[in-house]
Amino acid sequence: MGAALRGRSQVLIVGAGPAGCAAGITLARAGIEVCVVDRARFPRPKTCGDAISNRALERIEQLGALPAITSGPHALVRRADAVFPDGSRVGRAYQRPGMIVPRLQLDVALLAALRESGARVVEGTAVRALEAAPDGGVGYRARGPAIDWRAELVIAADGPGSIAWAAMGRANPRGRSLAVAATQYFEGVRDLPGGVSEHFFEHELPCGYGWVFPSVDGVVNVGVYQRADAYQKTDDHLRKLLKGFLARHESRLEGARPVGPARSWSLPLGPAPWGVGGRDLLLVGDAGFSVDPLSGEGIWQALETGIMAAETARDALRSGSGLGPRLQRAHARRCARKIGMHCRVRAAVQDGMQWFVDRRLYRSSWARAGLQWAYGRGALEQSKSVR
Ligand SMILES: Cc1cc2nc3c(=O)[nH]c(=O)nc-3n(C[C@H](O)[C@H](O)[C@H](O)COP(=O)(O)OP(=O)(O)OC[C@H]3O[C@@H](n4cnc5c(N)ncnc54)[C@H](O)[C@@H]3O)c2cc1C
Repeated sequence: MGAALRGRSQVLIVGAGPAGCAAGITLARAGIEVCVVDRARFPRPKTCGDAISNRALERIEQLGALPAITSGPHALVRRADAVFPDGSRVGRAYQRPGMIVPRLQLDVALLAALRESGARVVEGTAVRALEAAPDGGVGYRARGPAIDWRAELVIAADGPGSIAWAAMGRANPRGRSLAVAATQYFEGVRDLPGGVSEHFFEHELPCGYGWVFPSVDGVVNVGVYQRADAYQKTDDHLRKLLKGFLARHESRLEGARPVGPARSWSLPLGPAPWGVGGRDLLLVGDAGFSVDPLSGEGIWQALETGIMAAETARDALRSGSGLGPRLQRAHARRCARKIGMHCRVRAAVQDGMQWFVDRRLYRSSWARAGLQWAYGRGALEQSKSVR
């Protein structure tokens, strides 16, 4: 290993996923000196369903990465179906389609836009610890095997298990603040006509669902998602849950041939159990618990929280007194309005969906019509629009 990278910048961002890139681009465009560090070298795989909502696409366009993803491999999502155990469906159409884009491509496109914005980007360098400046001092010192960096403000965009959690004296979350998911790519699976994302709500996956998304270059993303408290009760291994899902949908997945192994990862769910920041520190994306508990979706939230944190960081630096209590409170309120409150509502909808499935209400045409009415209008949705 070479000598450690040493230096300083106004802002250090740990993690160059969607949240870190969104924050970095926004800061660099505001003329702020920003360094973004990621432990991985890109392109790198990221365990994900690869579904990007239409509102996330708006953010990606704003960040300058849309042309790169529309010119690369992708599928359009024009419709989403909730599928119930008896095969009945409730669906909705999107006037502005969403997309399926493999994360290998999405994250490289965002990273290219980040470089283009003028931010300094360092790959292949892990940050292991954040040390707050001693009493009265400003900022943080970030250390790792190959880095020793100082910054006036740090944005943690390093996903589940963020080093910021340790810096804030917090342990890993459990229960309703966490979900788990497993996914695998397959070829040979027929697409439903018209770009349909299917979400299977089942008795075997309480507080979760299984998915089959439209194929990209003949490869479909199939997976299972479950809230951690329900998962812990089932006492099943996540990959076994995925195998069970594949077996239950043998006819839908007829001809499927795996492309690579199953992969699993965790998802920190909103609202954030211990806030989204502290003195000179902001948490964004998965590190800041912004995943939608119902859908497990986190890309729009990562982009949105990254942009909001960059705006707060910019204001803090311009104020000359750093990210103090007043700006922290204003930022927390903004995140609660945009993400946290919405996650509470979606968690309640998730409990309602579980009740709907447990009581087999999907068999009732009246109950289905009610669900169709709400779902079809995009009621209680934040990250996607049916219009
Ligand atoms: C199986 C699964 C399916 C999903 N499907 C979808 C979906 O279809 N649509 C959707 O919207 N969301 C989905 N999500 C959620 C989505 O993947 C995340 O919410 C999103 O990636 C969060 O972005 P992020 O930038 O916060 O974190 P990440 O994308 O995880 O990026 C974090 C970055 O930080 C880096 N890093 C980590 N630790 C360090 C360190 N110590 N030092 C330096 N760098 C570090 C990592 O290398 C990584 O590049 C899914 C998640 C899972 C697990």
